[in-house]
Amino acid sequence: MLCINENDETAYAFGPVPSRRLGRSLGIVNVPSRTCTYDCIYCQLGQTTNMTLNKQPWYDVDTIIESIAGKKAQVRNLGKLIDYVTYVPNGEPTLDVNLEVEIRILRSIGIPTAIFTNASLIDRADVQQALQRFDRIIVKVDAIDEEIWRKINRPHEDLELGAILDGLSEFSRRYQGNLETTTMLVAGVNDSTEELERLATFIEQLNPSRAILSVPTRPPCENWVRIPAEKSLTRAYAIFTNHIKDVELLAGYEGDEFVLSSDVVGNLLAIVSVHPMRKSAVKAFIGKAGGHWGQIEKLVESGELVVVPYEGETYYLRRQKNKGED
Ligand code: SF4
Repeated sequence: MLCINENDETAYAFGPVPSRRLGRSLGIVNVPSRTCTYDCIYCQLGQTTNMTLNKQPWYDVDTIIESIAGKKAQVRNLGKLIDYVTYVPNGEPTLDVNLEVEIRILRSIGIPTAIFTNASLIDRADVQQALQRFDRIIVKVDAIDEEIWRKINRPHEDLELGAILDGLSEFSRRYQGNLETTTMLVAGVNDSTEELERLATFIEQLNPSRAILSVPTRPPCENWVRIPAEKSLTRAYAIFTNHIKDVELLAGYEGDEFVLSSDVVGNLLAIVSVHPMRKSAVKAFIGKAGGHWGQIEKLVESGELVVVPYEGETYYLRRQKNKGED
């Protein structure tokens, strides 16, 4: 990890790290840690210490680019490839005034680029212009209702939700790359049927390649934040899949250790970690993989797998754990 400023703990280039979603990803941190337009209740960085809407040149562009180019060469010398250079959410990356300059140079290096953004500044033309240049954008949409938005994202006082949602809609119509959404579900905050319907309806018209539902599995900023119960997660998944073709529930068991396994149970657990399955689908999977139903019963008995009835269907999903649970 390299630091641009010895007095600043924030690094600007790291990795590559393996990521289930982005393959081998080289991370860029382009704003100091906890510099953000939001102060989300579930933020794993802790409370936002620099809440701002002012874009700044936080770091020197040349140094960022040199470190990325250096990393690329190192990785190539090891005979490996980098799938993405990714701006990671160490704060809000669109607060970097040099974002567009950086992305233009990075594209000329020839590595696909990705960014995680909370989209709070997406109503600004310059931010849209920079984001247009990314190959892949993962955009946060946690709430459509104003009160819920204020509760979960605790935005800067000058931000307006209507402008953000309009900006996102407008941007999605023109953006040619791969747009994904990510929604953090917090128990009792944004997991009601009404808000889930609003979220799914809004996200549907963004036409994302995938909508990701996640839960706060890492220690959150506020210790009262909880993962929704399995029934709520199943409801969220079902509502989203009514609107959006590709929905993933990232519930903390990304299951990398299972993905390459030839083991029936391991593979099933890896799948239900992200896609709750209906009983008929579980039966089909087990049959195809040469397993037997007793294996499923055993997983249910041990608590690894949870059975949730929802709207006349029976769903199987992996058990969720809050911080501190076994
Ligand atoms: S937008 Fe991301 S970095 Fe900012 S407070 Fe929320 S979770 Fe933390």
